[in-house]
Amino acid sequence: MGHRCKLSMKARMTLLSSARPLNAIYDAALVDLDGVVYIGSQAVPAAPEAVEKARAAGMRVVFVTNNAARTPAAVAEQLTALDVAADAQSVVTSADAAARMVAERFPAGSPVLVVGDTGLRHAVWRRGLRPVSVSADRPVAVIQGYSPRMDYDLITEGGLAVSQGALFVVSNNDSTTPMDRGILPANGSFSRVIANATGQEPVVAGKPMRPLHEEGVLRTGARAPLVVGDRLDTDIEGATSNEAASMLVLSGVTKPADLITAPTRHQPDYLAWDLGGMNLPHPETQAAAGEAHCGGWTAAVREGHLRLTGEGDRLDGLRALCGAAWSAPQEAGSDLDSRDALAQLGW
Ligand SMILES: [Mg+2]
Repeated sequence: MGHRCKLSMKARMTLLSSARPLNAIYDAALVDLDGVVYIGSQAVPAAPEAVEKARAAGMRVVFVTNNAARTPAAVAEQLTALDVAADAQSVVTSADAAARMVAERFPAGSPVLVVGDTGLRHAVWRRGLRPVSVSADRPVAVIQGYSPRMDYDLITEGGLAVSQGALFVVSNNDSTTPMDRGILPANGSFSRVIANATGQEPVVAGKPMRPLHEEGVLRTGARAPLVVGDRLDTDIEGATSNEAASMLVLSGVTKPADLITAPTRHQPDYLAWDLGGMNLPHPETQAAAGEAHCGGWTAAVREGHLRLTGEGDRLDGLRALCGAAWSAPQEAGSDLDSRDALAQLGW
């Protein structure tokens, strides 16, 4: 089963397989950053070599982020410091996607009120639009993105402009972001101020909505992109809504138990420990009616429990569990008990 089966796989039953490394069948990788390339200030150990190897195999690798605060050049600089080769051209941000959405609707030179940081102002300017900061400039659109310096005046001007008819666009709609200190409010929470005050719901550029992904495809000229990420509800759902192939890496936030009980739109095509999975073949996971085989493992759904027998590679065991759960006659949901099976694999 190859990647071209994807469109007929709407009701997914199992993971896809590939006898060749993924870098040989997908021409571009749209790679998420946090949890995939780095975690906090540290590179994910496998990331630098994985990116280099994929590029050497002819795959175009770009980095795709919902963060609209920093410029692509600043992100590229950070990646380079982590030994991941990157230039501004290889970084695609939700600010770029938001600016393109506005540039496609309004003529060059149109004023756009930027409720955000440097990265967003630059993106607007690069698209030939004119960043402004007061509603008196009659902006055609308001774009809001995260800024650590978000201030009252700017939000007020943004609210005024939206109430006067400006198009309301947000770079991304994540309500929170996990940081060292805990869960912090993110752009999706800040943008509620203007949305509540005006009654206007924003148009969203970032994951899981289509524009950011489309920006990555435009940037790479990809015909067969592979989306790589660590989050089911942004990276994988984004790939699903764009009908692109996806690979989930376990180096970030997603836990095996969440993957097993994921709804169809959150189920990835491929599963890997880390970014190195781009450069590997992926084994077949046969699955039907709640029973699945991968490597030396057999998994089955029995009375609300996942059972696992066999031996072999841990990731193959997880693949078998996914196949069994995803192909079960009724969507497993969070009721499916995978604890014993995962404990057998050391989770
Ligand atoms: Mg991530």
